[in-house]
Amino acid sequence: MPELDLFLSSALEKIKAEGTYREIETCIAKGKFIEKNGKKLLSFAGSDYFGLAFHPEIVEIAKNAIDDYGFGATGSRLISGNNPLYNRLEEKLASYHGMEASLVFGTGYMAACGAIPALVGAGDLIIADKLIHACLIDAAKLSGADLVRFAHNNYPKCHELLARYRRKYQKCILVTESIFSMDGDLGAIDALTALAQEYDSWLFIDDAHNLFENSYQKHFKNLVIMGTFSKFLGSYGGYIAGSKILIKYLQNKARSFIYSTALPPAILAATLKAMEMANMEMANEVMRKSRLFTDLMRMRPADSNIIPIIIGDNNRTMKIANKLEDLGIFVKAIRTPTVPPGSARLRVIINYQHDDDDIKNLASAFQSTI
Ligand SMILES: *Cc1c(COP(=O)(O)O)cnc(C)c1O
Repeated sequence: MPELDLFLSSALEKIKAEGTYREIETCIAKGKFIEKNGKKLLSFAGSDYFGLAFHPEIVEIAKNAIDDYGFGATGSRLISGNNPLYNRLEEKLASYHGMEASLVFGTGYMAACGAIPALVGAGDLIIADKLIHACLIDAAKLSGADLVRFAHNNYPKCHELLARYRRKYQKCILVTESIFSMDGDLGAIDALTALAQEYDSWLFIDDAHNLFENSYQKHFKNLVIMGTFSKFLGSYGGYIAGSKILIKYLQNKARSFIYSTALPPAILAATLKAMEMANMEMANEVMRKSRLFTDLMRMRPADSNIIPIIIGDNNRTMKIANKLEDLGIFVKAIRTPTVPPGSARLRVIINYQHDDDDIKNLASAFQSTI
């Protein structure tokens, strides 16, 4: 074997021995169903929370946009890709968040990796929740700023870190999420806002999993919001929302914005339509069903439509996922290193298209397999 493959195969063996080997499976996800291995399963795994990815009106708009603007963007936004749809979408996103302006990136991942290194660097400090998404950790590393982390939602610990380290650094940014992607619980936004204010720091909130809720502390101005089109909008792309001057700055400094091709026009048109169609009623309905599920499971009422059933062991979690699949139900097993060791879980995601019977079936399937 060539030396490269030799190295790679031994690394893969190690991953397999740890029980964390991943493989992609071909599938077609549509609404509440997913087709895998020729089998149609009821899915509780996708992030198309409102079922907009296949909505006929949105699909139609995307097709028309291809006719009007072509398939590809033809260049980065600073060169030839800044289609008029960008302006409308960015205005819509800004007003949705109650912020002055917004800037669309290729993905949420790219928004994080563009914005954070543009804002802080060597000599600055990032203080982050232990459970932030991988893209925020990568962004922090890329920035060259020092990164310290506090236990999940433990804001007194964040306070301690600020008291100990803040004055040794020039700038400081606190990083958290509005809803955590593997736990489905809410970030301690109010407490962190107060701390950011007290310690002359900025606050960065990853809002990827928000279900149309918007109750941030608008009085706090040193705020950067990041979001994605890939969750409740059923689309693709990411963005930053904030002050006008922040957006001007990122257009000049965020490398993943400057040096990457603009999104295909059809994606922009579809996302804009999805923004117009998403509403609070849909969010409330998703939350009602999420709480129905936690009631049936005798769990604490859900904070969001992401509900982890913690199993612990990687292999046992996989076994339960396989048993559910035999019952015609798809729930994604989430293992280390995505979640901390010993906290492997089945992550249930409830969406707008599930009906009450689907939720009841899921709960009884869990009760018969765990
Ligand atoms: C999905 C997700 C992202 C990444 O968004 P993409 O647009 O898919 O790159 C970032 N942060 C969190 C918390 C997410 O769940």
